[in-house]
Amino acid sequence: MSVIHVHDKQFHPFLSPGQIQDRVASIAAALNKDYESKKPLFIAILNGSFMFAADLFKRLTIETEICFIKLASYKGSRSTGHVITAIGLDNDIIGRDVVIIEDIVDTGKTLHEFLPQLYHQQPSSVRIATLLHKSEATVFPVKVDYLGFDIPDKFVIGYGLDYDGLGRNIPGIYKLAE
Ligand code: 5GP
Repeated sequence: MSVIHVHDKQFHPFLSPGQIQDRVASIAAALNKDYESKKPLFIAILNGSFMFAADLFKRLTIETEICFIKLASYKGSRSTGHVITAIGLDNDIIGRDVVIIEDIVDTGKTLHEFLPQLYHQQPSSVRIATLLHKSEATVFPVKVDYLGFDIPDKFVIGYGLDYDGLGRNIPGIYKLAE
């Protein structure tokens, strides 16, 4: 891996495709064990998680389902501030064991706002699998159950993550040059 340029910025190699696949395999192994006799519903949050979700899902040997949702943020009333709505969450959640697939948890704001909406639909359990977690950037604590890498508070791209639309197709993860 070498330095790459995306738009006006330079990015340095951070996580190789091999390192990522090793972690994905470990997470899949843990999920296969933890959900052996269950039929979990995976909810992948688009756009960034599509590559992680695909690689992870391929390695699951349990009986399972997946759906893809998009979280849209819009300005609510003055009292509610920003409101997040889930687009595409058509599945019946009641009584299901749900596993959320995220690309990256940064401040935790997204999940902090989305999780209460999910719990409102009465799932039996909810766990979170995220490839990346910037734990030092936490503002809204989120309990991550399956983690790929805890990374520093630096902007990263690749493996599904973009910089202004570009970079999602890069198989490794790159960090913005200082
Ligand atoms: P949070 O709500 O936890 O602060 O942020 C979650 C979302 O912010 C992620 O799903 C992702 O879309 C975006 N994000 C946070 N950090 C990064 C980063 O380093 N690179 C990219 N490409 N997106 C990020």
